[in-house]
Amino acid sequence: MAVAIRQSTRMGWYLMRQRLAKREKFPLIVELEPLFQCNLACSGCGKIQHPDHVLRRRMRVEQAVAAIEESGAPMVSIAGGEPLIHPEIHTIASELVKRKKFVYLCTNALLLERKLSNFKPSPYFAWAIHIDGLRERHDESVEREGVFERAVAAIKVAKEKGFRVTTNTTFFTHDSPKTVQEVLDFLNDDLEVDQMMISPAYAYEKAPDQEHFLGVAQTRELFSEAFAGGRRKKWRLNHSPLFLDFLEGKADFDCTAWGIPSYSVFGWQRPCYLMSDGYAATYRELIETTDWSSYGRGRDPRCANCMAHCGYEPTAVLQTSRSLKQSLRALAG
Ligand code: SF4
Ligand code: SF4
Repeated sequence: MAVAIRQSTRMGWYLMRQRLAKREKFPLIVELEPLFQCNLACSGCGKIQHPDHVLRRRMRVEQAVAAIEESGAPMVSIAGGEPLIHPEIHTIASELVKRKKFVYLCTNALLLERKLSNFKPSPYFAWAIHIDGLRERHDESVEREGVFERAVAAIKVAKEKGFRVTTNTTFFTHDSPKTVQEVLDFLNDDLEVDQMMISPAYAYEKAPDQEHFLGVAQTRELFSEAFAGGRRKKWRLNHSPLFLDFLEGKADFDCTAWGIPSYSVFGWQRPCYLMSDGYAATYRELIETTDWSSYGRGRDPRCANCMAHCGYEPTAVLQTSRSLKQSLRALAG
């Protein structure tokens, strides 16, 4: 928990500095995608459909570090594709850690045990392991048998070696309040991971499976039932209380896509990690040349069912920082 407190304190100072500098738009986390290639082919994925010459591209270490420095973001989530396929991913992570960025490395964990010795435990570094459900549910989600067992084994090894381990779980229409509870209980109580992230799946236009994405009403129903009976409080969820209220329909607000921007081998993606309406060369250019008012639910039909973390967690964090009551609630966990 000490790391979570350190991270919240850093984020609090960062937000205060932005306010004092009267900066209106700034990143909280950058989604860094140093490659799009993956060693799995999940049908709900919207990242691996690029042609081969794009899938073969790897972002250079200097390019990744320069982009994060230019943005000024205090946190970086390294995603993909599968980041552990990138031969220099450990150098990208360690260069960012050296600069005191909080780094989450998102992985399906298939290569984790083999690559673990390239990484060092640090309060600034955490694994974010993709687990969509218990054995049958997860293997069905990633469309390969045995992946759940390998991910669980990798989590145990990483924890034994002193790493901070978090998980990332995406829910679809074949989930029920029971499957949400089962997987979160397992991660929280049995595996004792440090923190867990959850998200309803976003309906990527390019994803082969278009049938199993949750609508807004379904998302609210799923989470309000899964969170009932005080369960939400006992799970170590890596989200602000306001974002969890949003997921279960107790709060509603606009998307703040500039708060968690995405930088890939193509540049800064407009407007967010989920949709691509072109690219900018710098974060500054992204901010200045994007019509942010044209995105979000009710404005762009592609946003109609989106309740994703990358759009709505920044809104929740900014609202929390402006309210003493919400700040105290967030501190209380
Ligand atoms: S593991 Fe992640 S990046 Fe790879 S195919 Fe599945 S969803 Fe896409
Ligand atoms: S609502 Fe926001 S985060 Fe979601 S797809 Fe639209 S712009 Fe992206």
